Parts: sequence; C-alpha cells; structure tokens
Amino acid sequence: MSRPLRVAVVGAGPAGIYASDLLVKSDQEVQVDLYERMPAPFGLIRYGVAPDHPRIKGIVKSLHNVLDKPEIRLLGNIDVGKDVTVEELQSFYDAVVFSTGATGDRDLPIPGSDLPESYGAGEFVGFYDGNPDFTRDWNLSAESVAVVGVGNVGLDIARVLAKTGDELHVTEIPDNVYEGLAANAAKEVHIFGRRGPAQAKFTPMELKELDHSPTIEVVVNPEDIDYDAASEEARRASKSVDLVCQTLEQYAMRDPKGAPHKLFIHFFESPVEIIGEDGHVAAIKTERTELDGNGGVRGTGKFTTWPVQAVYRAVGYRSDEVVGVPFDAAKAVIPNDGGHVLDAAEGEIVPGLYATGWIKRGPVGLIGNTKSDAKETIEMLLADYTAGNLTAPAEEKATADAALAFLEGKGIAVTTWEGWHRLDEAERALGEPEGRERKKIVEWEDMVRHAGPQA
Ligand SMILES: Cc1cc2nc3c(=O)[nH]c(=O)nc-3n(C[C@H](O)[C@H](O)[C@H](O)COP(=O)(O)OP(=O)(O)OC[C@H]3O[C@@H](n4cnc5c(N)ncnc54)[C@H](O)[C@@H]3O)c2cc1C
Repeated sequence: MSRPLRVAVVGAGPAGIYASDLLVKSDQEVQVDLYERMPAPFGLIRYGVAPDHPRIKGIVKSLHNVLDKPEIRLLGNIDVGKDVTVEELQSFYDAVVFSTGATGDRDLPIPGSDLPESYGAGEFVGFYDGNPDFTRDWNLSAESVAVVGVGNVGLDIARVLAKTGDELHVTEIPDNVYEGLAANAAKEVHIFGRRGPAQAKFTPMELKELDHSPTIEVVVNPEDIDYDAASEEARRASKSVDLVCQTLEQYAMRDPKGAPHKLFIHFFESPVEIIGEDGHVAAIKTERTELDGNGGVRGTGKFTTWPVQAVYRAVGYRSDEVVGVPFDAAKAVIPNDGGHVLDAAEGEIVPGLYATGWIKRGPVGLIGNTKSDAKETIEMLLADYTAGNLTAPAEEKATADAALAFLEGKGIAVTTWEGWHRLDEAERALGEPEGRERKKIVEWEDMVRHAGPQA
C-alpha cells in the first residue's frame, strides 16, 4: 500500500495523545486524526486535575511536543457518536481508537443521596476546573461538609473546600470560581472511608500535601488506625500503601498545629444515610465497621450521626457510552481484550476498533498509567495492520482532505492545534496582569472563538 495507515483516535486526553504518539513513532508511516468533543484538548488534565496541582497540569507541556508533530491533526469540538457517527468515521480510516475517558459520577446508593446538597465529586470538579458543561455557580454556604470516599479525588475535593479562596487565587481558576471559593463557609471537612488506612486509595504525595496548607489542620483519630493480617500484608507488598499508613499514623499522633480549618479523615465509618431536614442535607449517618481479617470489613451495628450541611460523593468516576460502539453498562467500559473492542453480546473482536485509557479499563490510575495502556493497544493495532486484518477505506476517502471536507460539510466549527495555541495565549494574557500563569476561559463559544475557524 503506498498511502499511510490512517487512524482516527477519539478523545484527546492523555490516553489518546499517548496512543497518537506511539502510532506516529512506529515503523509504519501513519497519519492520525485526533478527535475531541471539547473545544480544547487534554481531557481530565484540563478538567479533572485540581487547579492547585500545577506540576501535574504541567504534563501538558510534554503533550505539546506530541501534538506539534505534523502527522497528528487535532480535530476538536466534534462529539463522535453525535456530530459524526462511528460508521461515518470508519469510512475514512483504517482503524478507530476510542480513548473517551470518563466524566460522570458513580452513584452512592444510600437514602438521601438525591438531596440538593448531596453532590457528585465530578460536578464540583467541573465547577472549579471551569468545565463549560457544568454550572458556574456553587452553593458554598455549608460550615460542615462530608466527603465520602478515600481516594485522590476525595482528597482534591476536601483540600479545595478546606483551603481559603486566596490560597487558590494564584492558580488558573476563573473569576466566578474564585468568588465562590472566597465566600466558602466551610470550617470542618470530614472525609469518610468504609475500610481502614491500609485500604485507602490515596497516593502518598497527595496525602502529605494536605499538610502544606497553613489553613488546614489534618485530624485522624488514633482509634481509626487499625490493621489486620491482610492489611499488614498489603503494607509489606506495596511501598505506597505503607507510606500512606505511615503518614496517617503521623497525623493521628502529632499535636495540633492550630490551623483554622479542620480536615478530618475518618476510617471504618460506612455512610448509610444522608439525613434531610426540610428538604436539605442536615447530617450524614455512618455505621462503624471493623476489619474481618481478610482486609474486608463488617458492620458493628454502632451508628453515628454527623451534622453536615453538604455531602460530596467521591466514590468514583463513570464513563459514558459512545453511540455506535459496544458498551458494558455494568462496568461502564468498552468491552475489550486489552485493546481490541469486543462485541458486547458475542465477545468477538470488532475489526478495526480499539480502546485505550479509562474507557478501556475503568476510571482508576494516574496519567502515567495511560501510557502503558496505549502501548498495549497500539501494538495490537499495528500487528493487525501488518497481518492485513484491517479493512481499508475507499481510495477517495483515504485522505486527510476528504475527512476534513466531510466535517466542514456538516457545518462543524472544528477547533485545531493552531487554535489551541491562540486559546492558550488568550488564557495566559488574562492571567498576566494578576501575576498568574493563566486564567481559564470557560464558555464553550469563547473557546471556539479562539480555537476554531478564524474569519
Ligand atoms: C478529579 C480528578 C483528579 C485527578 N488528578 C490527577 C492527578 O493529580 N494526577 C494524575 O496523574 N492523575 C489524576 N487524575 C487521573 C487522570 O486524570 C486520568 O488517569 C487520565 O486523565 C485518564 O486519561 P484518559 O485519556 O483515558 O481520559 P480523559 O482524561 O477523560 O480524556 C478523555 C477525552 O475524551 C473526550 N471525549 C469523550 N467522549 C468523546 C466523544 N464522544 N467524542 C470525542 N471526544 C470525546 C473527552 O472530552 C476527553 O477530552 C485525576 C482524575 C480525576 C477525575
């Protein structure tokens, strides 16, 4: 074949960008079109990672080097499955890779979860990270707040709620978010975990970092430090688990530093109900649990009611289905065998379709983990190509121009990599007078105005 291998990658988060990079770095000549629903690339690095994590947000700089490559073309502001069907897309490419990640919240199925001040973590993240799909106003009048879930997202939420607006003003947050956070009334934030310290899903650095804020007093009850044989084994098997346990032990033992905002991390408290009063959150009720010897827990029948006026449910993200691609609704992933998309019903490989990142293996793991994911998937794709297992598009459709003409014919205001540079510059210019690296532009139309077609 004299033309390059043509691949559409759907989703310009880290997984999609790493997959694109591996494709163009391969021995084959490859052209990649990287489709993205939002007007801007970078997925959860832009719309998930907390604003006070500039080092992580800085990963974008290394992704710039990938997107600068001429064999990769960013096509933003295109919702695949909606603006273009998967079938339409397949007619222009030899293969399609789905890296559509996750944005929704998993449910917490307890009574009261639907009260107005019971929020999904993802909704709050969408607010403070300036995602145009989410609300611009947030009710921050609660003085005591519960966060359910002992993972890094729970820590992000708790930290943002426990810091002052001014501590966060130096970051890229837009003005409406700063104004909201500056008026935040929270004095006590309570994180609840059903199991013990050795079962927490925190990473050591994120846990330690809580203590760096002068306004946050991290409090752990010494009675919550408990390990069974399985917990001890988990500590021995993983340096990260052991470091998390050590940090929690230090928090439990030390004298208070006297910071004004208290951030409690409670273990062995399983939320059983969010209690409402006059239709608003008034408390959260938990059942004390105990270790069962195998790293699991059982209820003790002892209940505690904690007065709080808001509850944030940080019990995991959830991926959305892309219309036209098999979807396992129970696991909320595209069914796959490590990369090949499988037909949901039969478990057979769907030729030419691949998955990588959170949509492939569920919403766990760090940005770095999406790299190894992409490697596995792209190796499969390239092996299929070499073995002649991909169906080639019709000759007249197998060009970069044909795909672009098709999209423009649909009237889509496609945003591009050059467009991202304009948006990036505009955001930096907004931040500069305030001595900040950037201030985010939030509204969808404003992003498209910078990153889309220029008059
Ligand atoms: C709140 C939060 C904080 C986090 N903080 C950190 C951290 O500090 N450090 C760290 O290492 N990791 C962190 N992570 C994890 C990290 O964000 C993920 O590991 C990583 O983003 C997953 O990459 P992905 O590319 O699979 O998915 P995503 O980042 O979700 O990217 C998927 C992309 O696909 C696009 N897309 C979706 N559907 C379509 C469609 N139909 N058509 C076109 N495009 C589509 C989306 O708009 C998105 O841009 C955090 C995650 C969350 C949720």
